[in-house]
Amino acid sequence: MEIMLSHKIKLDPKKKQIEYFSKACGTARFTYNWGLAEWKRQYEEGLNPSGFGLKKEFNAIKEEKFNWVYEVTKYACQQPFINLQTAFNNFFSGTAKYPQFKKKGIHDSFYIGNDQFSIINKKVKIPKLGAVKMCECLGFSGKIMSAVISKAANQWFVSVSVKMDITPATSESQAVVGVDLGVKNLATLSTSEIIEGSKALSKHQNKLRHLQQSLSRKQKGSKNRYKARHKVAKLHYRISCIRQDELHKLTTKLTRDYAVIVIEDLNVKGMMSNDKLSKAISDMGFFEFKRQLNYKSLTSGSLIIEADRWFPSTKKCSKCGEINHEITLADRVYICPKCNLRIDRDLNAAINLKSLAIAV
Ligand SMILES: [Zn+2]
Repeated sequence: MEIMLSHKIKLDPKKKQIEYFSKACGTARFTYNWGLAEWKRQYEEGLNPSGFGLKKEFNAIKEEKFNWVYEVTKYACQQPFINLQTAFNNFFSGTAKYPQFKKKGIHDSFYIGNDQFSIINKKVKIPKLGAVKMCECLGFSGKIMSAVISKAANQWFVSVSVKMDITPATSESQAVVGVDLGVKNLATLSTSEIIEGSKALSKHQNKLRHLQQSLSRKQKGSKNRYKARHKVAKLHYRISCIRQDELHKLTTKLTRDYAVIVIEDLNVKGMMSNDKLSKAISDMGFFEFKRQLNYKSLTSGSLIIEADRWFPSTKKCSKCGEINHEITLADRVYICPKCNLRIDRDLNAAINLKSLAIAV
């Protein structure tokens, strides 16, 4: 079975390389916006535009009108037409809004095909640009297909797409586990093992809250506001790195040790938190948790079962099955009105999830 995975790696480019990146991003943005404007114009004239057709038109005039596109990789003015077509396909199928113009500072990225770069150890080599240092090695081995170089929070990244051929393994372990993702702890397992989240994360979260308040008090358009926004973006990035790292440890452990992993419907978890900030951060984490579990299970052979969103994992007694509707967000301990079971609320939920697998 073939799967495509991508790995996003922070870059450490030199000044000249940053200049090149910025120029390539500008070219990609210009080309996309040119294509979108032309698409609209042709549509209004009653024509039937396409990404492929627009690319041909652009190529016919680029030498005369936009000869600066030759200063960077050819992909910077080719791939945007494919992206534009995809954006319209998504719009036509109802899965996305009408395509919008790209803006500097928000859409800073460009694509490179695998014929124009290579990865050697901790370096990505691009013709005319030399080797750009990567902050970590590529995490997957397989056929390298493409890369997207992008900028966020004033840092540069490369996201490398790799095609991997894998044989789904059958896990030797027969163990079943229920996992309750939490806000207080990262996760509680049905084995009563608790995986605490990183302490640094909650410290950073408090700091982020302060920074965001201070940002909102800064005058619009001022230098101080710009600085404050930069600080917020940087901290956001650190938080997502810490979260990603702790999730990797958790998902590696789960797929290594268990043959069947039962998780809850992740939408429910998001609704349970009424703090906006921790909600945003945990939403991101839950999505990432599921993504990692799914791809790691492909090689470990673990089966992932996601509980139905109506499954009452929190309200049900894990001993006698009674439903306690009285339980609220504030209750840390589950108390069963029927059999008098007293149990940690997250552990109760994890055991209920586990029993779901046995029922399946
Ligand atoms: Zn009970």
